[in-house]
Amino acid sequence: MTTRRNAVPKVAKVDELPEQMERIFTALLPEVGIVFLHAGCLWVDSTPVDDAILYDEVLTHDKGHDVFWGELKARGAVAKDIEYDEVPRGRVCYSTRSRIYHVYLDRCILRNEGMVRQIIRTMKLPSAPLTVISTDSHYRCPGCMSQPGE
Ligand SMILES: [Zn+2]
Repeated sequence: MTTRRNAVPKVAKVDELPEQMERIFTALLPEVGIVFLHAGCLWVDSTPVDDAILYDEVLTHDKGHDVFWGELKARGAVAKDIEYDEVPRGRVCYSTRSRIYHVYLDRCILRNEGMVRQIIRTMKLPSAPLTVISTDSHYRCPGCMSQPGE
């Protein structure tokens, strides 16, 4: 039997970290995703920011509100006769340019401080100024639309 003297020592790379450590890192990562607030329940579908898709300079969740709402309907979690754009909703994404997490929410969610805190906690978002919370013209439920000035 021969011994290979010049065998290259094995070097562990970061992507070969023990599975357990990798799980811890992933668990600590902030997430991007989409949310609905329906009948007092918060529905979140999200992904660690490292696994998000890059759209222009924004890391975002690779699923639309329509698809997520369809999944909730299929699970019997929400009423089948309600469409996704009738429900207060929002999105969390990350700007790679400003390095800020943006939380865009319907005003119906925004005015509920407890619910906003729950979104921040659930998605492990950093505190201000690294996370900015605002409204967005895309996320206006029929209730918001009917209110002048909203
Ligand atoms: Zn609303």
